[in-house]
Amino acid sequence: MAYDDTNIFARILRGEIPCKKVHETEYALAFHDINPRAPVHVLVIPKFPAVTYDEFVAKAPAEAVAGYFRAMGEVVEKLGLVAPGYRVLANTGEHGHQEVQHLHFHVFGGRPLGPMIKRID
Ligand code: AMP
Repeated sequence: MAYDDTNIFARILRGEIPCKKVHETEYALAFHDINPRAPVHVLVIPKFPAVTYDEFVAKAPAEAVAGYFRAMGEVVEKLGLVAPGYRVLANTGEHGHQEVQHLHFHVFGGRPLGPMIKRID
């Protein structure tokens, strides 16, 4: 899918829409999810314009890929999630139920999170 820079996260990156910022680096921005599903629910987005994980790692410069994933590690530390544990998750594409068309990893924590995914037979 072609990247459309009118998506809501692109608008947050441009400062057109506010966010509750947790962390920002040259390569990434992290902010609280507007509709939290856990006591800690933060979104980490790359500044590079990509819709999906596979597109991002294929197209972004190596330093942007490393910078993004390092920033996610810094977010986890900053939020105090290292010792108790946490979950990272990227909903991708139609089957992955991706709603916002700019790559984002969810970081969940703050309580035991239960099994990874509901079993659907
Ligand atoms: P998904 O694309 O399915 O991974 O979900 C997109 C996520 O973005 C949802 O958890 C929304 O609650 C969240 N979201 C949408 N708009 C905003 C916003 N303006 N600020 C923070 N989180 C948002």
